[in-house]
Amino acid sequence: MGPWSPETITDGKDKGGKWFHGGKLHDVDGPFVKNIGQLYNDEKWKLYNEDGTVRVTKTREAFMAAARPDVDPAYTNHVVEGQAEWVEGLYLTVAIPVTPVRQDTPVNLSHGAMGLALNGVAFDPPAPIEAILGAYTIAPLDDHGGHLNPFEGYHYHAATGSTKEVAQSDGHAPLIGLALDGYPIFAHLDTDGNPSTDLDECGGHSDEVRGYHYHAGSPGSNQIIKAFRGARGVTTYEGLSEASQPGGKGKGQKGKGKGPKGEGPQDE
Ligand SMILES: [Zn+2]
Ligand SMILES: [Zn+2]
Repeated sequence: MGPWSPETITDGKDKGGKWFHGGKLHDVDGPFVKNIGQLYNDEKWKLYNEDGTVRVTKTREAFMAAARPDVDPAYTNHVVEGQAEWVEGLYLTVAIPVTPVRQDTPVNLSHGAMGLALNGVAFDPPAPIEAILGAYTIAPLDDHGGHLNPFEGYHYHAATGSTKEVAQSDGHAPLIGLALDGYPIFAHLDTDGNPSTDLDECGGHSDEVRGYHYHAGSPGSNQIIKAFRGARGVTTYEGLSEASQPGGKGKGQKGKGKGPKGEGPQDE
């Protein structure tokens, strides 16, 4: 996990993670943080202090306040990053159909995990980039495509090719995970480096070897799959503390608690 935010505006890309812009993942290095106002053409951006240090959420309290849908005004113009020890005790249980049940119409992804990588980390729906930027914050992904929020812990918004893969003998893209509806998820590119060109509105297609399956979007697309082709399984989040739930909705209630800017465990 990590790194996410560089510490100073002169740090190199090895000190930071990635952020979405223009359909690509950009390195979040010091100069990226320094020049972000030019990137978004808005002079209200200022993610660093006069001494060149980056304004980053350095405590659990700061992280919780900055990762809420209604960002505490004290934490606008911050790079939002969480640490694993701040979300200890969070558990995600996922029930996935052994036999997928194909639906006539695509099923929306909603919030919370929409699948699992082969290493057990959740694949999430798109990060709510507009809402995050609207508070003059960024929430960088690490080089593996993941970051933390107070509601789900660590999760991926991009398949960057750094998690476990199962190669396919016919040159098809490797298997990288399983969607919540039970259909498998394969990488974006086949072994020749080409994306699939016949994907449906869910981001999947069928072939004779694998049946119906998904292909992850490109890493910068903020879209691993687009919708479920089958009936979705069930996610249950446990161990949410009062402090981690805006509005204090209680402990460990399945499907309750709004995530940061639309992220989070909602089951509906
Ligand atoms: Zn996220
Ligand atoms: Zn395929």
